[in-house]
Amino acid sequence: MSTKLTLRRIFAGTLWAGRISVKRIRQLGADSRFILMYHRITNPRTEPVYIQPGMYVTPETFAMHLKALQSETIVLPLHELLNRMRQGNGNPASKPLCAITFDDGWLDFCTNAFPVLKSLNMPATVFLPTNFIGTDKWFWTDQFAFVWKQLEPRRRPAATAALRSLSRIQGSFESQIEKAVAVLKNLPGNAIEDVLAELEKCAGTSSRVPGRAFLNWEEVREMRGSGLVSFGSHTAGHQILTTLDQNGIRDELLVSKQKLVEEKAADADGLSFCYPNGNFNQTISALVKESGYSSAVTTKTGWNSFSENHFALKRIGMHQDMTSTKSLFLSRLAGIF
Ligand SMILES: [Zn+2]
Repeated sequence: MSTKLTLRRIFAGTLWAGRISVKRIRQLGADSRFILMYHRITNPRTEPVYIQPGMYVTPETFAMHLKALQSETIVLPLHELLNRMRQGNGNPASKPLCAITFDDGWLDFCTNAFPVLKSLNMPATVFLPTNFIGTDKWFWTDQFAFVWKQLEPRRRPAATAALRSLSRIQGSFESQIEKAVAVLKNLPGNAIEDVLAELEKCAGTSSRVPGRAFLNWEEVREMRGSGLVSFGSHTAGHQILTTLDQNGIRDELLVSKQKLVEEKAADADGLSFCYPNGNFNQTISALVKESGYSSAVTTKTGWNSFSENHFALKRIGMHQDMTSTKSLFLSRLAGIF
């Protein structure tokens, strides 16, 4: 563990003892709300690909989060939280109000998160990239990590030399992946496919990750049927919207919305949207509104005031490292870290 994390842990432990975090959370809850952002609920040791630290919490940590939320807050379905924000008249409840969201619709939501939510009767919203649901596709970031691992370390320099965009990728295996993904994110989709194809050639193997990454539509409908889980759009192809032209953005918004309604994952009214990678601007959020969505969440960190723009809602990201104890979790909610 890094020194920074150890210090953070010690500091958070002290805060917990003084209940400063809880006090701060109650203060904030008087005139603002928070939305949690999760991606995957899994143990990285059991996964076929490297998972970035910001992308997961373990099932044990997740269960601890829910129990802490249950004692310190009132968890509402996202649409209800937003309705109460629209009404705006303070928070008559003694505890802060919040909502839980998940990005990407990973299969582990069904296997690891839903059973815990169900046992505690707590609601959540999951944002689906509809082209990936019910398929055995993986995100290109995972395909990259998978093929990079197959590439013997001594062949990586030759591979990066052949790929101009990756020519400066060095360091540990993990930092190579992080750096490469950061570089490749800025490239158009077909250029990323070219990079993967080149790496497949160098590694002499496919970049197809074994197993299924995402939910299927039966699982989606079944969880919706429980009354605890609602679904929103995370586009169709999980493309970063700031890299597309207006027609491309509209397509992503409308195709995904239509698919969610067609598959009975959601009703057309009151549908929420989630910007891939958190990238958006004013034009994009206007298009989201124009396409009939009622709200949109970002990756900007913080609590939301009553006057918050409902198409630029902030969330608090949940990382395993930063929230692995109750004291760390509460201090993250309190905005101390
Ligand atoms: Zn995403």
